[in-house]
Amino acid sequence: MKYALVTGGSRGIGRAVCVKLAELGYSVLINYKGNVEAAEETARLVREKAVEASLLNFNVADKDDVQKVLGGWMEAHKEDLIEVLVNNAGIRQDTLMMSMTDEQWGSVLDTSLQGMYHVTKAVLNPMLMNRYGRIINMVSLSGLKGMPGQVNYSAAKAGMIGATKALAQEIAKRNITVNAIAPGFVKTDMTEELNEKELAKMIPMQRFGEAQEVADLVGFLASKQSSYITGQVISINGGLYT
Ligand code: NAP
Repeated sequence: MKYALVTGGSRGIGRAVCVKLAELGYSVLINYKGNVEAAEETARLVREKAVEASLLNFNVADKDDVQKVLGGWMEAHKEDLIEVLVNNAGIRQDTLMMSMTDEQWGSVLDTSLQGMYHVTKAVLNPMLMNRYGRIINMVSLSGLKGMPGQVNYSAAKAGMIGATKALAQEIAKRNITVNAIAPGFVKTDMTEELNEKELAKMIPMQRFGEAQEVADLVGFLASKQSSYITGQVISINGGLYT
């Protein structure tokens, strides 16, 4: 059985990605941190596409948790392959640097950057042995241009971009591509409290993006059609200048 693993698959962009990968025929491993109801709803939507959905509840920032839950799943599914990994889990803790707490700095870096490291490390060796794979890292416009009030988030996403480019070069010869997607503003819980009407004025397309639009790009990068694209950061932001 061929699987796709999506971290932070319970809500928002991650949920749309799970459904898209199900449409491509992948059975989907849906990771989430705490929101079991939302994760179950994603699983229901995935199963509607006539593939398998499994919930994996672990905190990507916690190495032991990743090893226990994801490592445990892999141990129990030795014949199955995780062909696609989408490192999507992420949080925001916005504040100016002068008032940022260590916790705000640490939790954002731990979720995006450390999380990507823990999960990628866990699935990489079998992928290398299989000589095929797709790794897609969800970064952000903030990681490309830096955003005031988001020093922690910008650093986390910029770190993921560096890792994407380096890992892509390490494993290209094994037919594994590693790319990053940098969304601008996308309508999800993460952007719920933002003033869309006001912010849309600076977006050439005059609107926020939909999770589905990001998922369609993930679907392309996860497919065989994207086989010569690796080490890239692809922006999806309605024309915002980066
Ligand atoms: P969201 O709606 O807030 O959903 C976040 C997802 O991440 C949830 O599924 C959540 O699980 C999961 N998650 C958070 N911390 C986790 C952890 N430690 N371990 C495992 N799962 C964790 O966010 P979103 O807007 O869909 O964003 C998805 C990704 O896109 C993020 O990396 C974000 O930085 C990036 N992004 C978003 C935007 C945007 O405008 N929305 C723009 C640029 C980049 P629970 O449901 O269990 O809490």
